[in-house]
Amino acid sequence: MEEEQKKQILKTYFGYDTFRPGQEEIIDQILSGRDVLAVMPTGAGKSLCYQIPALLMPGTAVIVSPLISLMMDQVKALNEAGVHAAYINSSLTESQTARALELAKAGRYKLIYVAPERLETPRFLDFACHAHLSMITVDEAHCISQWGQDFRPSYVRISSFIRQLPVRPVVSAFTATATEKVREDILSSLGLVRPYETVTGFDRPNLYFEVQKGGSKKERIRRYLAEHSSQSGIVYCATRKGVDELYLYLENAGFSVSRYHAGMSPEARKASQEDFIYDRGRVIIATNAFGMGIDKSNVRFVLHYNMPQSMEHYYQEAGRAGRDGEPAECILFYSPQDTMIGRLLLESKEVEQDYTEEERRMIREQDMERLRKMEGYCTTTGCLRSYILRYFGEQAEDGCGSCGNCLAEIEQMDVSEAAADVVRCVRDCGQRFGQSMIAGTLLGENTGRIRDRSMDKSPSYGKQSKLGKARMQDVIRAMVERGYLRQTKDKYMLLKLTERSEELLEEGAESFIISYKKEEKAEEGKGKS
Ligand code: ADP
Ligand code: ZN
Repeated sequence: MEEEQKKQILKTYFGYDTFRPGQEEIIDQILSGRDVLAVMPTGAGKSLCYQIPALLMPGTAVIVSPLISLMMDQVKALNEAGVHAAYINSSLTESQTARALELAKAGRYKLIYVAPERLETPRFLDFACHAHLSMITVDEAHCISQWGQDFRPSYVRISSFIRQLPVRPVVSAFTATATEKVREDILSSLGLVRPYETVTGFDRPNLYFEVQKGGSKKERIRRYLAEHSSQSGIVYCATRKGVDELYLYLENAGFSVSRYHAGMSPEARKASQEDFIYDRGRVIIATNAFGMGIDKSNVRFVLHYNMPQSMEHYYQEAGRAGRDGEPAECILFYSPQDTMIGRLLLESKEVEQDYTEEERRMIREQDMERLRKMEGYCTTTGCLRSYILRYFGEQAEDGCGSCGNCLAEIEQMDVSEAAADVVRCVRDCGQRFGQSMIAGTLLGENTGRIRDRSMDKSPSYGKQSKLGKARMQDVIRAMVERGYLRQTKDKYMLLKLTERSEELLEEGAESFIISYKKEEKAEEGKGKS
């Protein structure tokens, strides 16, 4: 019976025939009276998971949501589908609020959307304590956690609101942010009772993932655009300056591209955005300010000129590709410089005034940890798809067989000599430099930076000139990962020796082996699939 009802509602109110992975289970759990914590990525279809139970249960569901525009959209869509729903937020006048609550109290609505700040106002409490509430749903539930990226103090008071209710309704929480810590915070802050927890919908089988390293990124992007000349795509850069530079470069190279960042006038931004949406501009170069609320289904590729600050950012941005379910590509162009840019951006990020010194320190540490995980994605030789899925807490097979790394040939190389040379170089220069100076010295690069610091006079200069830049970077990174070197945690990221460094210089030391991706192979393999 219930089975039929769910499907019926899916069809009549939302116009769909089948549920997406995970939706039905969540709906069933809520209907059985169990609390739920569901982690689903943006666009996976969270709303249905609480809207359908809300329609099936007697009484009114209260949906807590942080974004006024989102509430308005949803209520509008529900009303158009013939569902009684309303919202209470700061966009309403006093008398509109009073009227809505009056109707709510009379049981008029199946769903009522509310901003968290409104919950504990006397009028809302009065309604909530006298109405028959079917469920409390907390949307964007990560806002509850200080470890989330959008902490909202008003979210912390949701639990106090729930405690004031005469009868505790089912509580369901939804978010796209899945880190362990954030999930724990949601569970404990909301006081969820024996909840059904699920992480679902993260896999996007039609997306191809790849990380490319080395070479000129501008040139690689130029080539990519030339090879995909009929397709629509987004190129993300970390900074406004980066957008402007790449934009000019590509324009000079004869491409018709548009750009988007927060430093442009609202009119210019709007024009760029519309050109892109209506297929007048095929490619847009943008900062992460672009894309919120943009619903363009035929984006065939999302390129990243720089590494984003977290996997959350990356997946959200890359996930704008292939919304229509057709194959699409997500390629990240990585260089170790990106980690540096990432750290600089984090250091200059403004932290809200009302945090204590200790809280700021911990927030910064969390940010750094996210950056490290992002770097891990860029440098792993393992399956990229399973890296993503595991990061978000979803089960994943070991190799997807279809990402850049799975298709690439992984090679191994004994770099014991090079590793020993790195130790000597770091030691001889007094541990004063970061990886690019050390690598540059060993490679024998002839640059002003190296000459200014007289590194061209160092005994290490040019000793590994045959290794090549990409492998040199792999060696240093592997040394840091394995504890043979340490990188300072400040923005300078200086390389320091550790107690293990000496081991690499010892006679008869174990071989130092690195594995790396044979880049050309990925290109070939991709063409075949
Ligand atoms: P989220 O809140 O997770 O970001 P939404 O609830 O806004 O995602 O849903 C994203 C889109 O997917 C919406 O257009 C929605 O109508 C659609 N959608 C949700 N569930 C289904 C389904 N079972 N079948 C087809 N489309 C669906
Ligand atoms: Zn893979």
